[in-house]
Amino acid sequence: MALVVQKYGGTSVGDVQCIDRVAGRIARRHEQGDRLVVVVSAMSGVTDSLLRLARQVHPDPMGRELDLLLATGEQTTTALLAMALHAKKIRAVPLTGAQAGIVTDGSHTRARILNIGPKRIHGFLDEGAVVVVAGFQGQDLQGSITTLGRGGSDLTAIALAAVLKADLCEIYTDVNGVYTADPRMVPNAAKLDEISYDEMLEMAASGSKVMQSRSVEFAKKFRVVFEVRSSFSDAQGTLVKAETKSMEDVVVRGISLERNQAKLTIPAVPDHPGVAAKIFSSVANHGVSVDMIVQNVSDRGLTDITFTVNRDSLSRALRIIEPAAQELRAARPRAQEGVAKLSVVGIGMRSHSGVAALLFQALADAGVNVQMISTSEIKISVVIDEESSEKAVRAVHEAFGLAGGTSSEVRKLG
Ligand code: ADP
Ligand code: ASP
Ligand code: MG
Repeated sequence: MALVVQKYGGTSVGDVQCIDRVAGRIARRHEQGDRLVVVVSAMSGVTDSLLRLARQVHPDPMGRELDLLLATGEQTTTALLAMALHAKKIRAVPLTGAQAGIVTDGSHTRARILNIGPKRIHGFLDEGAVVVVAGFQGQDLQGSITTLGRGGSDLTAIALAAVLKADLCEIYTDVNGVYTADPRMVPNAAKLDEISYDEMLEMAASGSKVMQSRSVEFAKKFRVVFEVRSSFSDAQGTLVKAETKSMEDVVVRGISLERNQAKLTIPAVPDHPGVAAKIFSSVANHGVSVDMIVQNVSDRGLTDITFTVNRDSLSRALRIIEPAAQELRAARPRAQEGVAKLSVVGIGMRSHSGVAALLFQALADAGVNVQMISTSEIKISVVIDEESSEKAVRAVHEAFGLAGGTSSEVRKLG
């Protein structure tokens, strides 16, 4: 008798037929004797429409009110799924995040889990019930409802699996697993049988939204092995787990694309100590996250600094750096929208060379210009024009030989 934590994402519970189908899946598993804790997302599109509603009444709603509103999306599906299970004569107990014992800090809309008291859930499991938990939410120490950042139901599931010491954690979504690239963009992308935490983390953090990146960080920290699989089929999914020796043989595991990026350049900045600190501390103090940063070689004591931000933060970032640039006697900052970040990820890069050269060649052959480059031990990212970004992803995917049918084979460069 296994203790299983399952999570069903928005599309899997997108309408009442889907909820009923999921209830059928759960009922079958329950009848096989497994103890089940089921985490659900809001029905697809609901969180976005709640956000739109909030912005219709206030341009910049306060976090506490926003979280109270957003949490209702997951509560709706929790209640509906429990009802659907009752209709199938399965005893189910629906719990909000707070009722499930999820305690967070008070950072509304991106709260961190502080602890989870699993007693209540264990009690209901011991009584033979299926426990249905609203994903994406918790409660802070003052008793206010908080949410865990977009995609946060993944985190609820992984955190519950860790604290309940579950035998299995299954993340059900609308594709068969983690692919070498977004299968909606690259039709011949291959499903991966397994992927290491670090690779999944880098892919999630650079635009592969199949998993929330914070949930992968949490899984790595608490060694929660989980499977990403489809709620629409019985096909085996992708195991996300600690790396094994053989994983390093695959040089590039996958390609990610992050759209909605913007680039800011401050030209002719005096090249002396403290200048970068001044620019980036004022940006950080205003809560804007900076991604890539590039500084040119100094020419007669002056340099250009370029960095990228999310497009939504562009006007705010510009408002912050304009006075800073003036104070530093630099030239007027320039902004460019319509850029995207393409990343190739793989732990095999640690021990294989030639990845950057192959990436740049593939982009050159596709006629795509590279505007910025950054590298880490297991990732190379480039900023490119957003308009040609899908074409670029397909070309790079092809160049690295990632197309379907070869996903679990050893691929070595040269
Ligand atoms: P859920 O609502 O189940 O949480 P999401 O929409 O958050 O689902 O994530 C699933 C989607 O992630 C897929 O439909 C797919 O388009 C997208 N995706 C992006 N990159 C990848 C990838 N490398 N592998 C699989 N899916 C990906
Ligand atoms: N409903 C939330 C979102 O859309 C959380 C989730 O689905 O994981 O971001
Ligand atoms: Mg998701």
